This record gives sequence, structure tokens and C-alpha cells, in this order.
Amino acid sequence: MQDRFGRRINYLRVSVTDRCNLRCSYCMPEGGVGLVPHEKILSFEEILFVVHAAVEMGVDKVRLTGGEPLVRRRVVDLVAMVAGVEGIRDLAMTTNGMLLDEYAGRLREAGLMRVNVSLDAVDPERFSEITRGGDVDRVLAGIESAISEGLTPVRLNCVVRRSSDEANARDVARFAQEHGCEVCFIRRMDLAAGEFWVVDGGTGGDCKRCNRLRLSSDGLVRPCLFSDLGFSVRELGAGEAIGRALEAKPQCGTSSGAEAFSSIGG
Ligand code: SAM
Repeated sequence: MQDRFGRRINYLRVSVTDRCNLRCSYCMPEGGVGLVPHEKILSFEEILFVVHAAVEMGVDKVRLTGGEPLVRRRVVDLVAMVAGVEGIRDLAMTTNGMLLDEYAGRLREAGLMRVNVSLDAVDPERFSEITRGGDVDRVLAGIESAISEGLTPVRLNCVVRRSSDEANARDVARFAQEHGCEVCFIRRMDLAAGEFWVVDGGTGGDCKRCNRLRLSSDGLVRPCLFSDLGFSVRELGAGEAIGRALEAKPQCGTSSGAEAFSSIGG
């Protein structure tokens, strides 16, 4: 499908939950954010319905994200359901990796093709500080399991203050090289202030090349991370919500009132 500005939209990012088992300092306030009530969270069947509609309209790339996708109960079943949709050529997940060691094999068996793992530091103390309590050893074990299960190429997402030339980022780059991972550096963004940058080593943040729509865990199709526009699949039906989001997709992001990336699906 094409939007008003001639961009080909073929990528759907699905936030399967707004819950997360980390509290990364740049993503969420320490006390967490107001959570979406359970009844508002889309069921697997509803998510599948939206994915089907999106694929029929031209989406061929789907990413499961969150919140933390691996904290959603029975997420492996959801992966299997989405993997069964004909027409998806790339099915990936973005995870913080804390539960990946446990899940990598089952995710692969269910049909997941690859993972992006967020890794902002390799040093245990720095990692724990940034994520407010995360255990980097679990994440590194998760990355190694993902590699051995063939969820490749594993890409590491590293959030930096300004550039990849910072101590934590250099450590992550070295780890990536030693383990055959891809790496991209995401300069810290600010939803409210509308500050975003082109991702170094990735495709995000470049409005001219944006090919994405997002489905939030509470069922809004959102045309842009830096906008408050959203179209409810429960109210409008999946095809209509996707169509309206496509039509409304702004030429360039501005800002968003969302409390955290986790509530939109980063
Ligand atoms: N929990 C999963 C994870 O940690 O990868 C998926 C959701 S998380 C919101 C997705 C990505 O958004 C992560 O790579 C995270 O680093 C990034 N992110 C969150 N807040 C950000 C910010 N303020 N600026 C840039 N990237 C951010």
C-alpha cells in the first residue's frame, strides 16, 4: 500500500503488551506508567485479524514488540499464529532479552525468523543502572541462545546519548563484532519534545523512508511514533482502521503525548 506521500507501507509493528519487566531510564519513569486494563488489551485472535488485514493490504514484514513481548502469556502461541499467515516474508521480535534464553528455541520452532535485542551496555553495573535492575548476563545468554537457535541475524539495539562513540556503545559494538551480530545505535529520542533522529545502522527515524504502521496493545493503528493519531480496530474494524491510518500518515513526525515508548510499541 502507498500513503499520500508515495511511501510504500509494508511494515507493521505490533505491540503485544504494554507491560515490561525492565524500567529503562530513558523509556519509563521509575514507578512505571499507567497500565492499560487487561480487557482493553487485544486478544491473540484480534491481533491475528489485524495482521491478516494488513497482509492483504500489502504488509509483508511484521515485528512483535511491546512493552516486553516475552512477558505476554503464551506469546509463543501468538508467534505461531502470526507465522501461519501467508504472505509474511519477515517475522521478527524486539525484546530486552531478559527471558530470551528460556524462549529462543520455542520461538524459533513457532516460526519466528529473527530477533532484535536491546543492549545499551555490556558492563553489568552500567546495564543494571540504565535498566533499573536488569541482569546483563541473562541478556547475553539470551543473545547466545538466539544465535544458536538461528534467530539470525541478531541485531542489537543500543540507545546512546549522542553517538556511537561513547564507552557503553563501543563495548556493545565490540560484543556485536565478536558474536557476529548486527548493531544499530539509536540516539535517545523524546516523544513529548518531538526529538528524534535517524537510527545509525537502521532505518528508523527517517520520515522520508518510513514504511511503518503500528498496532498498539489496546488496538489502535498508529501511523507514526511521533503523533497522537490512532484508529481503533475494535471500533472501525481492522481494514478500515488500517486504511484511515494510512490516509492520515503524516509526512513527518512531530510529537506525541504518550507517556513512554512502551505504550506505543517502540
Ligand atoms: N522491551 C523490548 C525491548 O526492550 O527491546 C521492546 C520494546 S522497547 C520500547 C523498543 C525499543 O525502543 C528498544 O530498543 C528501546 O531501547 C527503544 N527505546 C525506548 N525508549 C527510547 C527512547 N527514549 N529513545 C530511543 N529509543 C528508545
